[in-house]
Amino acid sequence: MTAPAPHPDGATAVLVIADGALVAEPGAAPATPDRARGATAVLAIDGAIVRVGDPDEVAADPRAAAARRVSWSGRAMVPGTVNTHNHSFQSLLRGIGDDLPFLVWRDRALYRYSPRLDAEGMATAALFAFGEMLLHGVTTVCDFYYLNRQGNDHASATIEAARRLGIRIVLARCFYDWSGAPEAYRETVTQAVGNFEALARRYHDRTRFLVSVQPAPHSQHGASAAMIEAGAGCARDAGVPWHIHLAEEHYQVDQSLARFGARPLHAVAALPVDLSQMIAVHGCWFDAGERALLAERGGALAYCPGSNMFLGDGVTDLVDLVARGVRVGLGTDGGCSNNRVSVFDEMRTAALLQKVHRTDGQAIDAETCFALGTRTAGAVLQLPVGRIAPGYRCDLVALDLADPSLWPVQALEKNVVYSLSPRAVTDVMVDGQEVVAARRLCHVALDEIQSRVRHVTSDWRRD
Ligand SMILES: [Zn+2]
Repeated sequence: MTAPAPHPDGATAVLVIADGALVAEPGAAPATPDRARGATAVLAIDGAIVRVGDPDEVAADPRAAAARRVSWSGRAMVPGTVNTHNHSFQSLLRGIGDDLPFLVWRDRALYRYSPRLDAEGMATAALFAFGEMLLHGVTTVCDFYYLNRQGNDHASATIEAARRLGIRIVLARCFYDWSGAPEAYRETVTQAVGNFEALARRYHDRTRFLVSVQPAPHSQHGASAAMIEAGAGCARDAGVPWHIHLAEEHYQVDQSLARFGARPLHAVAALPVDLSQMIAVHGCWFDAGERALLAERGGALAYCPGSNMFLGDGVTDLVDLVARGVRVGLGTDGGCSNNRVSVFDEMRTAALLQKVHRTDGQAIDAETCFALGTRTAGAVLQLPVGRIAPGYRCDLVALDLADPSLWPVQALEKNVVYSLSPRAVTDVMVDGQEVVAARRLCHVALDEIQSRVRHVTSDWRRD
């Protein structure tokens, strides 16, 4: 890869020029859909977009004089996609426990193999999951991380793997104390808080946002009330959001009613926690009262339609949540419950699932689903990512306009969501640096990842 050219004032500038783009119109409100336009240039300084427009005009900007130039001719640039929910280690379990009942899968695959992973194995999983994501145009991934073994070695290995590849990461460090889970998942409240704070001190990046650390009490079944309160408290102290799985499967509603006398979101809302900073994951079984409460309190949702369908969980009422103004971001979930890792794919899946669920082809449109995988997903994670506009980080994906999956190209806004083939993703940039070029990872060889995955999983079986 070419070394970045130094800017006269010490900053690093890059000028990216493509034949087409999906960008925000100047001064567009957050809710305004991105629009397709022809030849477009983006100028970024130190990884932040400072100008977007016609190539001649942007190139004439004095700040572009010493910029490194990247030409994406024959390609359209779109915002890098944002994956709000994933478990990287689960990519290693792909295909190992598919099509089994949940408890059988959990005991025979998840609980059998995952505790065997050491920090080196977790790095392999992260290189595999994040490398495959980059090749599919994911530029930010949130890894909900619960295999901590009472320390930070695993989470650190995962962050270092993300850094090697060049992907932007949110490490959602889990708070987990359910005694029925493997010991590798469990911590005391004191351990979880101490480890979260140490990890954030070491890695949380408030300048370029390349690494963020956010707390993640696992769920109502995986975390006690004290653990959920501790996670939300760490989020408040650090000024970041917190994540929690809620109402994924119907039995979890029944359990919540039995244990707490309230449905999942109402039970969590009864705790001393700030729902405006909460990112609920899934919410398949939120009823109208819970959806209204989520909107009223300003909470967000990580929505994983591919995983919900794969596992037979249920259908989140996305259309209603969007209509109520809830911030929603798409997620792929783990590599063994989808089993794909593409946010472009989740955009299409979200639209199709909502349309069939409501038997209404107009239930939701491509532009809304595109936003859910880009800028509103960035808003969910509270990061300046997901849009090609000044003030956002320079995370871009180049799509090959010669690929038939994008034809006719005048319908780019629709075709990116409904017909795009992953084959059309040619180049990816994160924070102004190329991380995929000509369909290959720039910093880690795929051969290395392949041999590491083979080594770790060589004796893992489906039986
Ligand atoms: Zn999850």
